[in-house]
Amino acid sequence: MKQDDFIPYGRQSIDEEDIRAVVSVLKSDWLTQGPAVEQFEKEFAAYCGARHAVAVSSGTAALHLAAIAAGFAQGDQVITTPITFVATANSIVYTGAEPVFVDVEPETACIDAGLIRQNISGSTRGIIPVHFAGQPCDMETIYSIANENDLVIIEDAAHAMGAEYRVKRRWYRVGACAHSDMTIFSLHPVKHIAAGEGGVITTNRESLAEQLRMLRSHGITRDVSRMSSNHGPWWYEMQSLGYNYRLTDIQSALAKSQLKKLDNFVTRRRKIARMYDEAFSQEPMIAPLVQKPGTRSSFHIYVLLCRRLDRKEFFQRLRTRDIGVNVHYIPIYQQPYYRRRYSVLPDNFPCSESYYNNAITIPLYPSMSDMQVKKVIDIVLSAVRDMVS
Ligand SMILES: *Cc1c(COP(=O)(O)O)cnc(C)c1O
Repeated sequence: MKQDDFIPYGRQSIDEEDIRAVVSVLKSDWLTQGPAVEQFEKEFAAYCGARHAVAVSSGTAALHLAAIAAGFAQGDQVITTPITFVATANSIVYTGAEPVFVDVEPETACIDAGLIRQNISGSTRGIIPVHFAGQPCDMETIYSIANENDLVIIEDAAHAMGAEYRVKRRWYRVGACAHSDMTIFSLHPVKHIAAGEGGVITTNRESLAEQLRMLRSHGITRDVSRMSSNHGPWWYEMQSLGYNYRLTDIQSALAKSQLKKLDNFVTRRRKIARMYDEAFSQEPMIAPLVQKPGTRSSFHIYVLLCRRLDRKEFFQRLRTRDIGVNVHYIPIYQQPYYRRRYSVLPDNFPCSESYYNNAITIPLYPSMSDMQVKKVIDIVLSAVRDMVS
């Protein structure tokens, strides 16, 4: 078999045990709405240290349902970051609320918590911070702002499964919802664990978990204690407008099997990030994102910032040499839909603009061999040298 030389920016790691887990569901009575979903949810909640986990069909579905459960609606404003995947802001728009973008910290590309207060209006109802690249945001500050202003916090932790942060000498795992109402994750193959497609919401609030479970299945309940009437054993009630956002048992079995490997995946991601940090520390033309004290990133991606180096040319040189570089992300307010609908001015986001103009994501995934890491390092450094000479 010909070995493909192209090294993508991210990819899943599936082993025989994962395959057996999926096959055993295929041979069982349940392909969906069976026991594997709940088993995965229990184990995921335990991993995060949250009371509840609700599995859904994608990270985007998780964001959408969390935004509904948060009560966001027409006329509301919700604060988020422009440096994220479009799904984060879209989830706000789905509810009829308006996303209000707040600029990022130049050194981490996470939302600048110090700029949130000045963006709060009488209509602000919530904050969706994104733990960018896997590094947790300043949750202590965000939490206190939310408490002062009675705002709901939904952490978008699609990048940050397994990450931790410190508040007052104590470490918290992302997903424990120690400083938020809900946290969402994605089970897309480029993220930390794969289900094909999939997402999870964690929360410590029983009422939110119940609401999320109903919303993922058309807003229907079969729980007799919650019904307004009961015509007989066939009776169920649709109590709110929900969706079919269920995760299948096939996907849940894969996610549950993958979860066992999460700690090893995160350890390997951190190791590769350290190899990159070390290799690039002597090269002044490029700099990695800064890891702040009190954070332990789980490194969904590894971003380099170009310093006086043309990013587009750098990008092309690396792609030509089979390094699957990428750019995460185009600021959301630059997307045509958002430009038309909200006409946000890029001038208000100097750090997001500068980040976007200089950022490049290089390959990082657990099954990368040391040889592949070295190859990326060599090609990155030689491309820099070629460009400056
Ligand atoms: C991947 C991602 C999502 C969406 O997750 P899907 O499972 O692809 O729907 C949301 N937010 C961020 C920051 C992401 O990276």
